[in-house]
Formats: sequence, structure tokens, C-alpha cells
Amino acid sequence: SATAPEPITLAGVRLSFGAVKAIDGLDLALRPGSVHGLIGPNGSGKTTTLNVISGYYRPQDGAVRLGSRSLLAEAREARARLRIARTFQTPRIVGEASVIENVMLGGSVEGRASLAESLLSLPRHRADERHLRESARLALRAVGLDGLDDVRAGRLQHSELRFLEIARALMLRPAFLLLDEPAAGLSAQEIQRLGGLIRAVADAGIGVLLVEHHADLIFAICDEVTVLNLGRVLAAGTPAEIRSHREVVSAYLGA
Ligand code: ADP
Repeated sequence: SATAPEPITLAGVRLSFGAVKAIDGLDLALRPGSVHGLIGPNGSGKTTTLNVISGYYRPQDGAVRLGSRSLLAEAREARARLRIARTFQTPRIVGEASVIENVMLGGSVEGRASLAESLLSLPRHRADERHLRESARLALRAVGLDGLDDVRAGRLQHSELRFLEIARALMLRPAFLLLDEPAAGLSAQEIQRLGGLIRAVADAGIGVLLVEHHADLIFAICDEVTVLNLGRVLAAGTPAEIRSHREVVSAYLGA
């Protein structure tokens, strides 16, 4: 069934941009109910990996699967329908729309060709719209933005937009949630709240990919960590294993 807890697996994935090998033979597994941290220096292939899983980039070689099903032929809208949701480094928010309208669009926007198509697809029946609004309200509460429903999204602070993006992604009822640097620009206190939210998401059975620079957040909440360098896996393991990996420590953690 659509809710079967199957992993997403990448095997031997390669993607070059001209002469740049952004991903150079990558193996990775995202497990339901688990937080997988992806770290590494700038340009090591983290965002490219997220784009390959969400269908924004197509690799030149290798396999990307959900369970036994290949995802490579599936466009990004189809992957959204398979309940693979993502956020962006720069929140993609409709500033003129209210907070709750932005979240309501999340139930459809990733699965549609365009924002216009999404707006047209918003429910015409009052019962459907009520249901969507109620789901959006729950998503906003889950990320700690309740009480802001009718505020214009353009008036939110940067940190609030990051949480709004997650609320919108949750509207897909994702099986997998791919987060691209969600802690960027957040205060220490907000990062702690974000960590609690991500853990709760995983504990609800969702598989999370966390691309992140904040090592403290990665080590605090991840079940597994993969360290990339030049598009290859430098190290993979539990946070404890990665923390004690000599090469990783000297190269990236500044210890
Ligand atoms: P990271 O997220 O780890 O900083 P990226 O995945 O963004 O790294 O980039 C990996 C490499 O691929 C970099 O050298 C980057 O310049 C290159 N790259 C990424 N996306 C593109 C693109 N759309 N066009 C050309 N080069 C790209």
C-alpha cells in the first residue's frame, strides 16, 4: 500500500555539471522514522543529493528507489504524490497570501505544475476547504506558528518563514521530508525548537534528510550521518561514530 514503510535508496548515483562531478558514486539510504544528516563542506554535493531525491535533477548514472520502485522516471510532481516533500534554502512563500493560505497551498503546490494551477485546484466545495484549513491549522500548530493564521506571510520574520516552509511541506502528509539547511539564520533557541520538531516528525514515522551546517544540531538529533566530500561519502555512521572519525574531525569539525 501507499503507506508501507519502505526506504529511499541511492546506489552509485553520479551527476556532473560539465567537468564538475557534483555527486560521484553515492550510496545512501533514508529510512522511515529516522533522521539522516548530510554534512560536508560547501560544494560537496549535499543540495545536489537533495535535488536528485526530490526529482529536481536527474542523475547520469545510478539508481534512486523507493522500496523496489525506481524513482528516476518520476517527475518531481509524481514524487510529491509519492509523499516525498522538501523545503528550499530560500523559503518559497507567497508574500501577498496569508500564513494559512500558504500552508493550504502546500497540500497541492508541490504536486502541481505551477502556483496558478495550485490556486485553481484549491477546493471549490466548502467541506473540502474546511478540511484543508483544519489540516493547515494543525500543521501550523505543529511547527509552533499557531496564532499567525491571518497574518500576511510577507510580514513574517526570516525564522518564522523557515518554520512556515516546514508546515507547508507537512501538508503533503509526507513519508519523507527533505530539509535543505533549515537552521540557517536561526538563533540558538530557534535551532533547539527546530531540532525538537524534526525529532517529532521522525518519531511520527517520517524519514528525514537533514542537509545542515550546524554540527551541533546534526549530532543532537540524527540517527545516521553521512559526510560528503567532493561528491563522495567520506564517512557514514552514527553521530558517535562520525564524531570520533579522525579525518572528519580534523577536516570539518575544526577540532
Ligand atoms: P553543497 O550543497 O554541498 O554546497 P552542491 O550540491 O550545491 O554542494 O554543489 C556541488 C557541486 O556541483 C558544486 O561544485 C556546485 O558548484 C556544482 N553545482 C551544483 N548545482 C549546479 C548547477 N545547477 N549547475 C552547475 N553546477 C552546479
